[in-house]
Amino acid sequence: MSKKLFVEKTSSKGIVIGKAYVIEKADLTPENYSISNKEDETSKFEVALNQAKEEIAQLAKGSEIFGGHQMIVEDITLYDNVIGKINDGQNVQIALSNAIEEISAIFAMMEDEYMKERAADVKDVGARIMSKLKGVSINPFENIKEEVVLIAEDLTPSDTALIDLNLVKGFITELGGVTSHVSIIARNLGLPALVGVNGIMSTVKNNDIIAMDASKGNIIVNPEANELEEYKALEEQFKKDEEMLKKLEDLKAVTTDGREVQLCANVGNILDIEMAVKHNIDGIGLFRSECVYMENTHFPTEDEQFEIYKKAAVLCDGKEVTIRTLDIGGDKSLPYYKFDFEENPFLGWRAIRISLELKDVFKAQLKAILRASAFGYIRIMYPMIISIEEIVEANKVLEECKQELRDANIKFDEDIEVGMMIETPASVILAEEFAKYVDFFSIGTNDLTQYMLVVDRGNKRISNMYNSFHPVVLQSIKKVIEAGHKENIKVGMCGEFASDARAAKILLGLGLDEFSMSASEINNVKKQILETSFEDAKNYANQVLAKTTVESVMDFLQK
Ligand code: PEP
Ligand code: MG
Repeated sequence: MSKKLFVEKTSSKGIVIGKAYVIEKADLTPENYSISNKEDETSKFEVALNQAKEEIAQLAKGSEIFGGHQMIVEDITLYDNVIGKINDGQNVQIALSNAIEEISAIFAMMEDEYMKERAADVKDVGARIMSKLKGVSINPFENIKEEVVLIAEDLTPSDTALIDLNLVKGFITELGGVTSHVSIIARNLGLPALVGVNGIMSTVKNNDIIAMDASKGNIIVNPEANELEEYKALEEQFKKDEEMLKKLEDLKAVTTDGREVQLCANVGNILDIEMAVKHNIDGIGLFRSECVYMENTHFPTEDEQFEIYKKAAVLCDGKEVTIRTLDIGGDKSLPYYKFDFEENPFLGWRAIRISLELKDVFKAQLKAILRASAFGYIRIMYPMIISIEEIVEANKVLEECKQELRDANIKFDEDIEVGMMIETPASVILAEEFAKYVDFFSIGTNDLTQYMLVVDRGNKRISNMYNSFHPVVLQSIKKVIEAGHKENIKVGMCGEFASDARAAKILLGLGLDEFSMSASEINNVKKQILETSFEDAKNYANQVLAKTTVESVMDFLQK
């Protein structure tokens, strides 16, 4: 018998029928057995160490990130420490685990930020050697040899960097919400995916057949023949619709009465940009630079970031690339940085607050962005702004960076545009003032909705209350667009609301200049814009904005 699962909120679209591949993270806890022979333990360690060395040397050829790992795995201190513990009677797994704890603790206590960050590299090297000792793979995707639907507890940005997109047809995760990172990844990759599916890990086994309608939130495990037929038909129809939408790709987003808006892409890495630029986008409205930090083992250096941002500028060939400065904290952590415990991380030490405090980290990023600005049209965007002082202070650091580059005769765009995200109530209320300090606004409805409505964007229990069509959110958007236009600056939106086809006419009518979203959603929104006149949209927006309850807004949209 087939089993059915359903989730109300969907994060990407598409139909997929395929074999399940269940991701189990490798268990790297050391086994506590007693040793019979020290020589045996020593030689097990030497074999595993050599295998790890080879693997890291291979990885280091492809990426500078692994340079630190190479030094650690070659270092005699690690070898001596483990052998010493084996000689004291510990088995090789326990000895390795203890040695890694000791060495990483030494790095973690160092004053120098760079050396501190090496603690994470030590742990990573330890995990690699342990995986060899235990004969398990550290890369959970390594054994995927045919097309599959991935089933996982959760997927992180560094996981997705390992996924072979030719083999993964879609994925389903137990954790995550519509605006969580894993959903954003799915949309950016253009993969059908459902996240936050309770019970998926306990329901599905390897090689089960999965039929999923990501647009509707339906999953069937081991479908009956008739259900399979039904999904095959849906898949056919979806492909036809996509082909229809694809025909819009070469058109500009212009209303029937001639108002043009920009349709840009949200991206997290170079792969996203390479995919996005194939779809004739107007630029990158949001480069979530935190992905560059999250997909790393240390704070990426100025040079490492420069290479990435320069590539982005070159790929976009004169079209805008809006780089948001590090937006970490809240639900986004770094594998190599220990955040203090916070009762309310979403109201805590995050985004611009961190940048203004970790000035070296901020400067490395700003200088990398500035240097890359010599190669295209790059804009800087600050996240989570709540006060004018923050802009002034961030710009002071920016000016310092500019001066250092001038002194070193390094080229950059002297007039680089600096904008801010509007995603806090403070920035909405003070929008008219903020507009005097920046070159553009971009409305981040994902956070704005959670802060305006005081509804945690990742909390499933209250996800029915998280709704960007709430009159409070709509009125905030209206106010911000008006404030921006009063000061003659462009107002965009890069929250997920910009890709909601039901919202397109409202946002157009309110005068939004730029819609930024996952590239896979653009044609859908473009279709709405092409079919509407600006005059009509203004009327429509006025009617929606007159509503005072979510229910009446939703009723109106249905009609
Ligand atoms: C937002 O808050 O709307 C946004 C675009 O930023 P993020 O989803 O990365 O928090
Ligand atoms: Mg945000």
